[in-house]
Amino acid sequence: MKLLVSACLLGLPCRYDGGIKRLEGIGALLARHECVPVCPEQLGGLPTPRPPAECREGRVFTREGADVTAEFERGAQAALELARLLGCEAALLKERSPSCGCGVIHDGSFSGGLTAGDGVTAALLRAEGIPVYGEPRMGELSG
Ligand code: SF4
Repeated sequence: MKLLVSACLLGLPCRYDGGIKRLEGIGALLARHECVPVCPEQLGGLPTPRPPAECREGRVFTREGADVTAEFERGAQAALELARLLGCEAALLKERSPSCGCGVIHDGSFSGGLTAGDGVTAALLRAEGIPVYGEPRMGELSG
Protein backbone atom coordinates (compact mmCIF):
# COMPACT_ATOMS: atom_id res chain seq x y z
CA MET A 1 0.00 0.00 0.00
CA LYS A 2 0.96 3.61 -0.20
CA LEU A 3 2.14 5.03 3.15
CA LEU A 4 2.81 8.54 4.34
CA VAL A 5 6.02 8.32 6.43
CA SER A 6 7.70 10.86 8.70
CA ALA A 7 10.66 11.91 6.56
CA CYS A 8 13.09 11.73 9.48
CA LEU A 9 12.36 8.01 9.88
CA LEU A 10 13.59 7.51 6.31
CA GLY A 11 16.88 9.22 7.17
CA LEU A 12 16.23 12.69 5.79
CA PRO A 13 17.86 15.50 7.82
CA CYS A 14 14.67 17.35 8.70
CA ARG A 15 14.72 17.05 12.49
CA TYR A 16 14.59 20.22 14.57
CA ASP A 17 18.35 19.98 15.18
CA GLY A 18 19.09 19.17 11.55
CA GLY A 19 20.03 15.64 12.56
CA ILE A 20 19.25 12.26 11.06
CA LYS A 21 17.46 9.41 12.82
CA ARG A 22 16.78 6.68 10.28
CA LEU A 23 14.53 4.01 11.73
CA GLU A 24 16.25 0.67 12.06
CA GLY A 25 14.58 -1.88 9.81
CA ILE A 26 12.97 0.73 7.57
CA GLY A 27 14.31 -1.20 4.56
CA ALA A 28 11.71 -3.91 5.12
CA LEU A 29 8.96 -1.30 5.01
CA LEU A 30 10.36 0.25 1.84
CA ALA A 31 10.50 -3.17 0.19
CA ARG A 32 6.84 -3.80 0.93
CA HIS A 33 5.16 -0.43 0.51
CA GLU A 34 5.39 2.74 -1.51
CA CYS A 35 6.51 5.31 1.07
CA VAL A 36 5.85 9.03 0.71
CA PRO A 37 8.17 11.12 2.92
CA VAL A 38 6.64 14.08 4.69
CA CYS A 39 7.95 16.54 7.29
CA PRO A 40 4.97 18.59 8.47
CA GLU A 41 7.12 21.12 10.31
CA GLN A 42 9.05 21.95 7.15
CA LEU A 43 5.81 21.99 5.13
CA GLY A 44 4.43 24.44 7.66
CA GLY A 45 7.23 26.87 6.81
CA LEU A 46 9.57 26.28 9.74
CA PRO A 47 13.34 26.27 9.08
CA THR A 48 15.79 23.44 9.70
CA PRO A 49 17.37 23.56 12.16
CA ARG A 50 14.65 25.19 14.25
CA PRO A 51 13.97 25.68 17.96
CA PRO A 52 12.50 22.61 19.68
CA ALA A 53 8.75 22.84 20.29
CA GLU A 54 6.23 21.00 22.43
CA CYS A 55 2.43 20.89 22.75
CA ARG A 56 0.81 22.56 25.75
CA GLU A 57 -2.88 23.21 26.38
CA GLY A 58 -3.86 22.67 22.78
CA ARG A 59 -1.17 24.90 21.29
CA VAL A 60 2.50 24.48 20.32
CA PHE A 61 5.30 26.57 21.81
CA THR A 62 9.06 26.72 21.41
CA ARG A 63 11.25 26.47 24.48
CA GLU A 64 11.60 30.26 24.34
CA GLY A 65 7.81 30.64 24.42
CA ALA A 66 7.08 31.53 20.80
CA ASP A 67 3.65 30.28 19.70
CA VAL A 68 4.19 28.20 16.54
CA THR A 69 0.71 26.65 16.44
CA ALA A 70 -0.14 28.24 13.09
CA GLU A 71 2.95 26.74 11.42
CA PHE A 72 2.21 23.32 12.89
CA GLU A 73 -1.41 23.48 11.72
CA ARG A 74 -0.35 24.60 8.24
CA GLY A 75 2.04 21.68 8.04
CA ALA A 76 -0.62 19.24 9.20
CA GLN A 77 -3.01 20.46 6.51
CA ALA A 78 -0.31 20.12 3.87
CA ALA A 79 0.47 16.57 5.02
CA LEU A 80 -3.22 15.70 4.81
CA GLU A 81 -3.47 17.17 1.32
CA LEU A 82 -0.42 15.21 0.22
CA ALA A 83 -1.86 11.99 1.64
CA ARG A 84 -5.12 12.54 -0.21
CA LEU A 85 -3.46 13.65 -3.45
CA LEU A 86 -1.30 10.53 -3.58
CA GLY A 87 -3.84 8.12 -2.11
CA CYS A 88 -1.97 7.18 1.07
CA GLU A 89 -3.94 4.60 3.03
CA ALA A 90 -2.10 4.96 6.33
CA ALA A 91 0.75 6.87 7.96
CA LEU A 92 3.84 5.72 9.89
CA LEU A 93 4.91 8.58 12.14
CA LYS A 94 7.77 9.47 14.49
CA GLU A 95 6.88 8.95 18.11
CA ARG A 96 6.71 11.76 20.71
CA SER A 97 6.95 14.59 18.16
CA PRO A 98 4.62 17.60 18.57
CA SER A 99 3.69 17.07 14.90
CA CYS A 100 3.99 13.35 14.29
CA GLY A 101 3.65 11.79 17.77
CA CYS A 102 0.93 9.11 18.05
CA GLY A 103 -0.59 8.40 21.43
CA VAL A 104 2.34 9.78 23.47
CA ILE A 105 3.99 13.20 23.10
CA HIS A 106 6.30 15.41 25.14
CA ASP A 107 4.37 17.17 27.89
CA GLY A 108 5.29 20.79 27.18
CA SER A 109 7.76 21.15 30.03
CA PHE A 110 10.90 20.63 27.89
CA SER A 111 12.19 18.34 30.63
CA GLY A 112 11.77 15.05 28.81
CA GLY A 113 8.36 14.35 30.36
CA LEU A 114 5.71 12.55 28.34
CA THR A 115 1.93 12.69 28.27
CA ALA A 116 -0.90 10.96 26.42
CA GLY A 117 -1.89 12.66 23.20
CA ASP A 118 -1.23 13.05 19.49
CA GLY A 119 0.92 15.57 17.68
CA VAL A 120 -0.87 18.09 15.47
CA THR A 121 -0.44 16.16 12.22
CA ALA A 122 -1.17 12.76 13.73
CA ALA A 123 -4.38 14.13 15.26
CA LEU A 124 -5.55 15.64 11.97
CA LEU A 125 -4.79 12.52 9.91
CA ARG A 126 -6.59 10.36 12.47
CA ALA A 127 -9.61 12.70 12.55
CA GLU A 128 -9.78 12.58 8.74
CA GLY A 129 -9.87 8.79 8.73
CA ILE A 130 -6.27 7.97 7.85
CA PRO A 131 -4.94 5.26 10.22
CA VAL A 132 -1.75 6.38 11.96
CA TYR A 133 0.96 4.09 13.31
CA GLY A 134 3.68 5.19 15.68
CA GLU A 135 7.15 3.93 14.80
CA PRO A 136 7.10 1.13 17.43
CA ARG A 137 4.27 -0.42 15.37
CA MET A 138 6.27 -0.54 12.15
CA GLY A 139 6.36 -4.33 12.37
CA GLU A 140 2.59 -4.44 11.79
CA LEU A 141 3.19 -2.81 8.40
CA SER A 142 6.43 -4.47 7.35
CA GLY A 143 5.92 -7.94 8.80
FE1 SF4 B 1 10.29 14.07 11.76
FE2 SF4 B 1 7.73 14.77 11.87
FE3 SF4 B 1 9.55 16.16 13.23
FE4 SF4 B 1 9.51 16.34 10.58
S1 SF4 B 1 7.88 17.01 11.96
S2 SF4 B 1 11.30 16.04 11.85
S3 SF4 B 1 8.91 14.27 10.02
S4 SF4 B 1 8.98 14.02 13.57
